[in-house]
Amino acid sequence: MLRKKYRLFWTGGFDSTFRLAELSRRNVKIQPVYLVFNDRRDVTPLELAAHGKILQWLKKRPETQAMIQPVRYVTENQIIVSNEVEHALAWIRQRYAVPQCDRLLAAYAEKSKGIEVGLEKPYDKPGRTFIVLNAAGGLHFDEEGIGRLEDPNHEHPQIMKIHGNYGYSIANRTEVEMWEQLQEWGYQDLVKLTQTCEHPYHGTPCGCCTNCFVKIHSAMGWYLGDKAQRRHAILLELREKDPELASVYRAYMTGRFAPLKGTGAIPIQLSEKIAQCNRFLAARNAL
Ligand SMILES: [Zn+2]
Repeated sequence: MLRKKYRLFWTGGFDSTFRLAELSRRNVKIQPVYLVFNDRRDVTPLELAAHGKILQWLKKRPETQAMIQPVRYVTENQIIVSNEVEHALAWIRQRYAVPQCDRLLAAYAEKSKGIEVGLEKPYDKPGRTFIVLNAAGGLHFDEEGIGRLEDPNHEHPQIMKIHGNYGYSIANRTEVEMWEQLQEWGYQDLVKLTQTCEHPYHGTPCGCCTNCFVKIHSAMGWYLGDKAQRRHAILLELREKDPELASVYRAYMTGRFAPLKGTGAIPIQLSEKIAQCNRFLAARNAL
């Protein structure tokens, strides 16, 4: 029997790995695709290492039935961004806040229609991508639970160009639901192999980036480790006491001085804030 083939963007993070694990239990063929982003060079080696460990882990499991093809690694210069994608993205950006990486994902998906993307169901309010999806009528889920954007009357050509070529296979499940499912399968150890943090700090999850934030606030911070949770607690504490220091601390922890972007050199008062952050961390043994 011919195996049905599924293509999916796989970062090695929790969400896309959940989907890989889910598909691995079925008699199907899986083609994972990984885009190597130039501006994520710090995290790429960690994600590639996670890929190796996760695939090895799945291979050993008796439940694994799928034929998982070698990960397709695609570099930025291999992706041609069409004028239509550029124009559609410019149109969307004038109206909504969308992540920078959408451009290359959308360009890839334009040529690989139906490729699955790991966008999970939001807990409370819809995130940036969902706001755009909802503006175009929202996702329609098929019997397999894969969401797609439909635009029968061609009313949203720009949004369709950027968001209409994906299969949203986890968009009807929250992270907590996915975690419960993984526990049911006995896949807890798999979760520990995933790479969540976007900006690891000295080799461990930072506890302060968006991805770490989401995990900690969905009661899944345990697998990021004690350090990440401590750093996160400090961030919350600082936000109460000194919001300005909190934002410097967060920029520092995630390796980005976002509040001061474009200013070039680090100003003296920032150096002082960083020193203050360090003292704060050292006092709490969180470094
Ligand atoms: Zn992080």
